[in-house]
Amino acid sequence: MDRRHEGLVQDVLSVYHDVDQAISRFQKDSGLHCPPGCGTCCSSVQVEATVLECLPMGAEIWRQGREDLVAGHIDERQKQGDLRCVLFRNTPANPDGGHCSLYPQRPLVCRMFGFASRRNKLNRREACLCIHLLQAGPGGYDIRDEAGRWTDRLPVYQDSFYRLGSMALEMGFHLYPINMAFRISLEFLYWKCPDRRRHDIAA
Ligand code: SF4
Repeated sequence: MDRRHEGLVQDVLSVYHDVDQAISRFQKDSGLHCPPGCGTCCSSVQVEATVLECLPMGAEIWRQGREDLVAGHIDERQKQGDLRCVLFRNTPANPDGGHCSLYPQRPLVCRMFGFASRRNKLNRREACLCIHLLQAGPGGYDIRDEAGRWTDRLPVYQDSFYRLGSMALEMGFHLYPINMAFRISLEFLYWKCPDRRRHDIAA
């Protein structure tokens, strides 16, 4: 990966930093947090991401020298028609519970699974909060009233998505099933840094 692409990974991570900061502030103010050990979002078969979103994870997998292993797991899942994220580690006792094996580098969609807002057609902000965290919150929040008090503090998904996408149009807007987005990000890194290999890549 040349300097331009290393810089791109860092630029993506800086967007993630801003999103994380906004979500942390929201969590502190609202008292809402994901229930411990919940992996409901990650075990969904509907998670989609852009290749750009997955670049920090791809770079970390590459840095660790696990690209062939992860690509092999993705291909295996694809053959089985299994769309669940290959980086999710579920707990044996509960297939929907578990954790992300590369949490610090996870894509935008994963950061905003439970904590996001969107602009509706009237350009008003609407909270998009996960039902599980609402139920686990202090006093049992209802999205239609209590959580709405902090809606303006939630990051807007469209704004972060477009901020990211504008950094690299060719891979910043097309959504793929999450494992396919990882696969393409690994291929991108393979073609952009065949010589410099993993020890030179910024995580
Ligand atoms: S990348 Fe991590 S956070 Fe995102 S779906 Fe996969 S396991 Fe979950």
